[in-house]
Amino acid sequence: MPDGQSSRHQAASVCPLDCPDTCSLTVTVEDDRVVEVRGSDANPITEGVVCNKVARYYPAFVHGETRLRHPLRLVGPKGPGARFERIGWDEALDLVHAGLSRVIEQHGPEAVSPLAYAGPHGMLAMGSMDMRFFHQMGATRIERGPMCGGVKSEAHMTLFGGMPGTPPEQAADAELIVVWGNNVTVSNLHFTRAINRAKAKGARVVVIDPKRIKVAEQADMHLALKPGSDVVLAFALAAELERLGGIDEAFCARWTVGWREFLDAARPWTVERAAEICGILPDTLRTLARWYHDAAPALLAVGNGLERNQNGGNGIRALLSLPCLAGKWGVRGGGAISKVGAAVPKTLDKLQRPDLAPEGTRSVNMLDVPGLIDGTVAGAPVRGLFIYNHNPVAMFPDQQAMLRALSHPELFTVGCEVQMTDSMAYCDVILPACSHFEHDDLFPAYGTTYVQRAEAAIPPVGEALPNTEIFRRLAARFGYDAPCFRATDSELMDEALDLDSPKLAGRRPSAFPVDGAVNMTADGSAEIVPFATVFPSTPSGKAELSSDSAGTRRGFTLPAFRPFTSAYPLGLLTPSSDKRTNSLFGNDPASDPTPELEIHPEDAARRRISIGDRVRVFNELGETILIARVTDRIRPGLVSSDKGAWLRTAGGGLTVNALMPNHRADLCEGACFNDARCEVEPVSS
Ligand code: SF4
Repeated sequence: MPDGQSSRHQAASVCPLDCPDTCSLTVTVEDDRVVEVRGSDANPITEGVVCNKVARYYPAFVHGETRLRHPLRLVGPKGPGARFERIGWDEALDLVHAGLSRVIEQHGPEAVSPLAYAGPHGMLAMGSMDMRFFHQMGATRIERGPMCGGVKSEAHMTLFGGMPGTPPEQAADAELIVVWGNNVTVSNLHFTRAINRAKAKGARVVVIDPKRIKVAEQADMHLALKPGSDVVLAFALAAELERLGGIDEAFCARWTVGWREFLDAARPWTVERAAEICGILPDTLRTLARWYHDAAPALLAVGNGLERNQNGGNGIRALLSLPCLAGKWGVRGGGAISKVGAAVPKTLDKLQRPDLAPEGTRSVNMLDVPGLIDGTVAGAPVRGLFIYNHNPVAMFPDQQAMLRALSHPELFTVGCEVQMTDSMAYCDVILPACSHFEHDDLFPAYGTTYVQRAEAAIPPVGEALPNTEIFRRLAARFGYDAPCFRATDSELMDEALDLDSPKLAGRRPSAFPVDGAVNMTADGSAEIVPFATVFPSTPSGKAELSSDSAGTRRGFTLPAFRPFTSAYPLGLLTPSSDKRTNSLFGNDPASDPTPELEIHPEDAARRRISIGDRVRVFNELGETILIARVTDRIRPGLVSSDKGAWLRTAGGGLTVNALMPNHRADLCEGACFNDARCEVEPVSS
């Protein structure tokens, strides 16, 4: 290339973010820099469209000022404003080895804990060589599901086992779509297209959400349900369906276990009683039951929003029981969109090698890690922490507890990240990780049936390395010399999926074309239609509306409602932001302003709060300062502020996560973010 000319080309890629859609991307690269990110047609579900945040913020995420380019070591105290000095990779690996070895010598290997969630959703970056490394070490194993997604997943599994639910594109054929706890325009963008196609053919759309979200504005009905009351609504709908003669006894007898017991539990929830608990009108509930009874196909589109409370698992189990009771499964576009990603034949044991861990290695809920550091949770203390694929300061409940834990004087912390985050400021050593544009990876969608492969679009920025290579080097430094620690990225991809599955039709994942998406069908050819081409894989082979496993493990054989009480009057929701995915992109200037708090006009007037006021939002756990946005989009008694804000947006104070409780949901011991209660008052100037 002659001097003065730049190289500009386009490369295929895939969005790695925590989003069910998994868009295919076209990346414009100039002089080894990502300068533009657009949608591509490689994935037939995402059809060339991406959300604004990925299009706008990704180039700066990869190349901006807060990008981590070199290994760093802490100089001085931890926390906001922490100073680091640049070091080389050899020194960084030596420091990690020395620090973690010291912890293991003094306290044993379980005193080391990874703290990772799902920053990138590529199977290699999210959990492959890293898991092999920690398993070989004998480090504490962490359960990631309780942070997000695990409650919903366990609810689905207790009912259906590993059977995937209805693929979302089939919604185009539905007569009724019930969007339940799913802010589709922010968190499931491409589903809006299927909704619009169905509407064009005359379908009705119902939205169940405490807020009048965008999709609700064009819906035929919006139920502004009180958070945590989904199980009551589902029970009342079941009882009302029975009254309408809408129970499909033939389907129930053939395909379900426990349907009569479920109805016994549902009947006491009369429309009037349920409507009061749910905060909706009785006639609205009756109308919804009738619409659901009359429609075929009728489809429930279930989001993650309703899992984030103490009744979350039972709410999802109860609503997923409705299409069983009403016999809505077995047809294209019917049933429920739930755990669709189960269509992908993953072989996680082969990829992550849990067999390398010493027998009896403990496994802990990741929400307990701060307590294991500061001694408030029983168990051997954690003294070596390895944070990667996660920004716990921004995302954990009870933010002050997390900050206290990260400041523990005996804690040695390693960070591995793309960005200098709030959490990295608490690390002794930081290892710079590649963004997904800088390495190959395999991307199974969790909300569709498609799998895609991507190759690096640009070389690593600075001295950053892919997660797989970082943990390969760490394994070598720790003397882990089994062949599995030398597996290449291609070999890891081929260990990620079941090569013998007819769904792969003999194709190796490492050779999947990068300009297409591979559809996971039922058996290699038939489209996935639950109860027609795929079936429950529970112990009974049926949908278990009454579940012995849930009863044994969690104490809820049948769904149940537990009222939640608090001394604080307002429920506090923290939904997804349209500027961030979880906390990712929180470094972008678009997220600089102090976050808003949505509050209903009645609640605002009672507190003499006007639009644009600075307000103090507080409860027994902490407080934060937000900007009031007075709106009737949220129901009275609730306030809402988007999740994932960084500390700088609170002037160095605490974010809204400081108010999140750390009690657990009914399934999976999941986080109960939406059980936060608070009071709000104007900040006197
Ligand atoms: S975050 Fe979701 S909608 Fe946005 S580009 Fe990624 S996969 Fe697509």
